[in-house]
Amino acid sequence: MAFSIPGNLIDSQTTVFWFRRDLRLEDNRGLFHALKEKGNVIGLFIFDPAILDDLKDRSDARVTFIYESLKILKEKLEAASSSLLVVRAQPEKLFSTLTPAAVYCNADYEPYALRRDANVRNLMASKGIPFSAFKDQVIFERDEVTKDDGKPYTIFTPYSRKWKSRLSATDLEAVQSEKLLKHLKKVKAVEMPVLKEIGFIPTKLELPPRVISTAVIERYSETRDYPALRGTTRLGIHLRFGTISIRKLAALAGKTNQVWLNELIWREFYQMILFQFPYIVNGAFKPAYDRIQWRNQSEDFEAWTNGMTGYPMVDAGMRELNATGFMHNRARMVVASFLTKHLLIDWRWGEAYFAEKLLDFELASNNGGWQWAAGCGCDAAPYFRVFNPALQAEKFDHEQTYIRKWISEFGTASYPKPIVDHVFARDRVLRIYKEALELA
Ligand code: FAD
Repeated sequence: MAFSIPGNLIDSQTTVFWFRRDLRLEDNRGLFHALKEKGNVIGLFIFDPAILDDLKDRSDARVTFIYESLKILKEKLEAASSSLLVVRAQPEKLFSTLTPAAVYCNADYEPYALRRDANVRNLMASKGIPFSAFKDQVIFERDEVTKDDGKPYTIFTPYSRKWKSRLSATDLEAVQSEKLLKHLKKVKAVEMPVLKEIGFIPTKLELPPRVISTAVIERYSETRDYPALRGTTRLGIHLRFGTISIRKLAALAGKTNQVWLNELIWREFYQMILFQFPYIVNGAFKPAYDRIQWRNQSEDFEAWTNGMTGYPMVDAGMRELNATGFMHNRARMVVASFLTKHLLIDWRWGEAYFAEKLLDFELASNNGGWQWAAGCGCDAAPYFRVFNPALQAEKFDHEQTYIRKWISEFGTASYPKPIVDHVFARDRVLRIYKEALELA
C-alpha cells in the first residue's frame, strides 16, 4: 500500500527534514541545520519497500521498533505544533513528486543508502532544490581517520589510536536541535498509517529500553565476556536507529570506561571499512578466501539455526538469538566460528541469518563480525586459530548458567550428540583453508 503526502504540506516554502537512522529530536545534526538555516521545517519518514519487502517475518521486531520510535517523535513534534509525515513509498519516486525549498538529512554510508541519496540529490538538483546531508551517526566518517598517507586503515589498533588522537571536545558536543523546534512548520496533526497498513504486525519480542546504564558501563571491562551476566549495554538497536546520540555515548564512554569506548570505535571502524571497501558486502575482504570450498550442508545449517548442534555454547547462543533477537558478543563469536570452521558453511549464510534475526543488525558490524570469525576479514584472527566451543564454555560460562538458561534439556538424553567431532573438524578446516590459500 502506498501513501501520499496530504494536501500541499510540502510546498516550495517548506523544508523537508528526512529522518532515517536518526530517530530523535535531541542532538540531531541534520535537523539542527535545517531548523537553523531554513526554518518552516517538516519531518518526513519513508517506509521503503526496497527494504521492507526483503524482510521475511511480518512481525519483524525492527519494524515495530521503528514504528514505536516514530510515534514518540510524532508526539513530540505535535507538542511543538508541527507533525511527522510517515509514508510508504519508493524514495526516489516520492521526491520526484515534491518541490520543497530544501531537503535536509543525516548521512548514511551503506551502499544502498549512498545510491539512493545520490539519486535523490540529483533529482533535487535538476529542480534547483538543495539537498544537504550531515555527519550524525558516527564521530568520524568516511576518510576522516586515515593513515598519514591518506590510505584507509585495515587494522583496528592503529585506527583506534588515530581516532583517539583526532578527538577533540567539539567532536562530542551536542547540537541543541530540540531548542529550535519553534522553527518547525506549524501544521495540524497528520494521521500516521497503522503498522498493518505498512504490511506488518507488532512483534512479541521485548525491545531494549532507551536506557543507558552507567553501572553496566563502569563494570564493562570485568563483565562483558560472560554471557550469563547482564554485562553489556544492549544499546545496539538504539545506535542502529539513532534513538540515542553517538556523541552522548562516546562522551560518557570517554569519562567512564575506555574498554567500552573501544567498542564504539569498532563500530566506526567497520563503518569506515564498508565505506572504503564496498565489495565486502558480497565477497571476502581478502579475496583469496573466496576460493574456500565450503561444504554448505543444509542439514548442518538447520541444526545450527535451531541450536541443535550438540555443542552447548553454540546452541545456547542460537537459542538466545531465536528467542530474543539478541545474542551476547562472546556467543556470536563462538557460533560464527563454529558455522564457518567446524561446519565449513559459507560465512554469508550465517551473516544472512543474523541479518534476519538480530535486533541490532547493522550491515557493517555484522559483515565485519562474520568475516572476522571466518578469518577472511580485515584484522581477522588468523584462520588457523579455531575456537574450541567446549573450552569457550569452560572459560566464559564455567557454572553453565547461560547454557542451562537456554537449553532446558541440557544433560538429558534428549539433548543431541555433537554433529561433528571437534578434532576432526579442526583438521578438516585447516586443510581446506590451506588448499584454498595455496591456490591463490
Ligand atoms: P556493548 O557491548 O554494550 O557495546 C556497545 C556498542 O558498541 C554496541 O551496541 C555496538 O554498537 C558497538 N559494538 C560493540 N562491540 C562491537 C563490535 N565487535 N563490532 C562493532 N560494534 C561493536 N554489532 C552490531 O551492532 N550489529 C550487528 O549486526 C553485529 N553483528 C555481529 C556479528 C558477529 C558474527 C559478531 C562476532 C559480532 C557482531 N556485532 C554486531 C558486534 C557485537 O557483538 C554487538 O555490537 C554487541 O554484542 C551488542 O551488544 P550490546 O548492545 O550490549 O553492546
